[in-house]
Amino acid sequence: MIDSPTLPAFDWPILQPGWVWLCGAGPGDPGLLTLHAANALRQADVVIYDALVQETILDWAPQAEHIYAGKRGGKPSAKQRDISLQLVALARAGKKVLRLKGGDPFVFGRGGEEAQTLIQHDVPVRIIPGISAGIGGLAYAGIPVTHRDVNQSVTFVTGHDQSGNTPGSLDWDSIAKGSQVIVIYMGMKHIAQIAGKLLEAGRGGDEPVAVVTSATTPDQKVLETTLGTMVADVAASGLEPPAIICVGDSVKMRQVLDWQGMAAGERPRNLDPLGRGRPAETP
Ligand code: SAH
Repeated sequence: MIDSPTLPAFDWPILQPGWVWLCGAGPGDPGLLTLHAANALRQADVVIYDALVQETILDWAPQAEHIYAGKRGGKPSAKQRDISLQLVALARAGKKVLRLKGGDPFVFGRGGEEAQTLIQHDVPVRIIPGISAGIGGLAYAGIPVTHRDVNQSVTFVTGHDQSGNTPGSLDWDSIAKGSQVIVIYMGMKHIAQIAGKLLEAGRGGDEPVAVVTSATTPDQKVLETTLGTMVADVAASGLEPPAIICVGDSVKMRQVLDWQGMAAGERPRNLDPLGRGRPAETP
């Protein structure tokens, strides 16, 4: 154990009364908070947090009131509009408000809607980006979201829309054909439809897939499977959301990059999973 870091000397912004800082908390591991997030936690009067925010992070704001605004865990769900208006009310009451959201607030997190409502009500805001689960969560599983031998593009998609269905506005055919690597948020509920659409559009049944649940937390689990077998494998595994699903050859890199497995004493399964031979000497 080492002491928690104090912030280095820097002209840290001050959270003023009447402001709302809309802040990403990263995917789980408190070490993945940004320094701006840590600075905000120290100053807030009120922290309004989502289900995906690890509660240990709230220990960093012992002086603040903690308000749960999540939609999981058997606790009653708060409506998006109510949350936004509560933020407005708290700011107008002169509080220093920290709105803490999982991952990055502007990645499938409705941060844009909240900030828009605040600005429409003349409440000043600061946006603090965070590490998104679809990037940082995969890195903790040993999967690089881009890798030179695999992909020059990556597509982030959501597995369901506001109505809870697979997003009708998504052109799965084009995604399947045009995306080298597909990273799916909120995909567990409709995993069968998603797999079906990708297969129908011509992706191979043997294409590697990783399902990473509770990434970067002590409960992180990683299932390596394929597009053809993932529905059955996920059902058999009993894995529960939150999950990031990654489709594409970058998943193979986990055979050499599973750094958490190696830290626990495992050997890399394959030092050259893409079969590219020795590492290039030149960049
Ligand atoms: N703003 C968040 C995403 C919110 S949408 C971000 O940038 O990460 C919620 C979805 O994010 C979940 O359904 C899941 O797909 C993903 N997610 C968030 N945290 C996760 C975690 N620790 N492990 C796996 N998936 C996670």
